[in-house]
Amino acid sequence: MSHSLNFSITEDQQALVDVARDFGQRRLAPFYKQREVEGAFDRDTLLEMGKLGLFGVELAEEYGGLGLDCVTAGLVLDAICRSDYNIGQLMVTMSLSASLLARHGEPTVVRPWLEKMTAGETIPAIALTEPGGGSDAANLTLKAIRNGDTYILDGEKTSTSFATQAGFAVVWARTGGPGARGVSAFLVPLDLPGIVTSEFADLGGRSAGRGAVHFDRVAVPSSHLLGEENQGFIQVMQGFDYSRALIGLQVLAVAQQSLDETWRSAAERSSMGRALTDHQGVAFPLAEAETHVEACRLLCLKTLWLKDQGLPHTAEAAMCKWWGPKLAFETVQTCLLINGHAAYTEELPYEQRLRDVLGLQLGDGTAQIMKLVIARQKVGQQRKTSIQDRRDQ
Ligand SMILES: Cc1cc2nc3c(=O)[nH]c(=O)nc-3n(C[C@H](O)[C@H](O)[C@H](O)COP(=O)(O)OP(=O)(O)OC[C@H]3O[C@@H](n4cnc5c(N)ncnc54)[C@H](O)[C@@H]3O)c2cc1C
Repeated sequence: MSHSLNFSITEDQQALVDVARDFGQRRLAPFYKQREVEGAFDRDTLLEMGKLGLFGVELAEEYGGLGLDCVTAGLVLDAICRSDYNIGQLMVTMSLSASLLARHGEPTVVRPWLEKMTAGETIPAIALTEPGGGSDAANLTLKAIRNGDTYILDGEKTSTSFATQAGFAVVWARTGGPGARGVSAFLVPLDLPGIVTSEFADLGGRSAGRGAVHFDRVAVPSSHLLGEENQGFIQVMQGFDYSRALIGLQVLAVAQQSLDETWRSAAERSSMGRALTDHQGVAFPLAEAETHVEACRLLCLKTLWLKDQGLPHTAEAAMCKWWGPKLAFETVQTCLLINGHAAYTEELPYEQRLRDVLGLQLGDGTAQIMKLVIARQKVGQQRKTSIQDRRDQ
């Protein structure tokens, strides 16, 4: 009998998850609001996380990571996001940027950055979106013109998470003709002369800080080109398949934490002589949310498992990305309402969670773009099948 479908996690995975959950409960959850008010991460906390091996779980050991699989990285992310969604945002950005740097960068150039990142000493950023729009990223306009041993970057990126806190960014710029095939990716240290960053006053995600990055004739060494010239767009699309599944887990952890807390608080409160949870009007929305969150979480884990097996997972990743953030927002909203008026204040975490998870209905690509990705994959598969069918006839 085959045992290939296995939902259990190993003792090693559980041990790492326990470390993350314990750290989250002690060091992250109590300061979730404080970090929002301060509008930045406390660097000592990041250093502690680096020491515990919580950054770069899936990154090769030669770059400072633990060299584990993507499912394990997802489980650790889930554990941390139960306590602080924004630290999770940093972890997803680390996973995406590290996968691009390790896969496409010159090892001697990227290694010091990756080591600093996994140690919690530096923060990465992903700079793809431009003022002209994020959905049509293939038509970006930031220029990178080759000049001897450097590329000169000129233009503006916007909506960059961690814009003012990051030490480096992966930046996409136009090195060739129009469209996706004229785009290259670069590792750009953000202290280079000619770079100015600024921060937005956001609805949520305030400790991550989203902002703009201006490039005024910035000379980036040509050794910092990631992969082949004009191949940068194709590379990032592969990376997004990973971050989209992680984002699903990131937001669903917030939803699950809200559900766990709400079951408890609703059982303790009563109305009309019965516990709130004895009223179907309260228990059923929570039961439905539990069902949906469980299903979406399994989809995210399956997507990471597909990645670990080297199997295609583009459509699944896009499903995680459009469904997860929408579901998380709706679930936190349900929990907020069931907790009554107190949850409409800053005394309880639901209002911050609601504002935080909303951001990822935009960040990393909107639901419309995800559904386009799924549709293209499905139509492409059908075309392949019908061509094969015709060949077989
Ligand atoms: C919290 C947060 C964090 C972010 N972090 C980063 C980051 O770190 N790095 C980065 O580069 N970007 C980041 N972004 C930007 C994000 O990737 C973009 O917001 C997103 O790609 C959408 O781009 P846009 O906002 O310019 O909207 P637009 O592209 O202008 O789209 C506007 C609306 O039109 C819809 N639309 C556009 N084209 C189509 C189409 N062809 N079919 C159907 N509908 C369409 C969109 O779905 C959207 O609803 C972040 C955004 C947020 C909110």
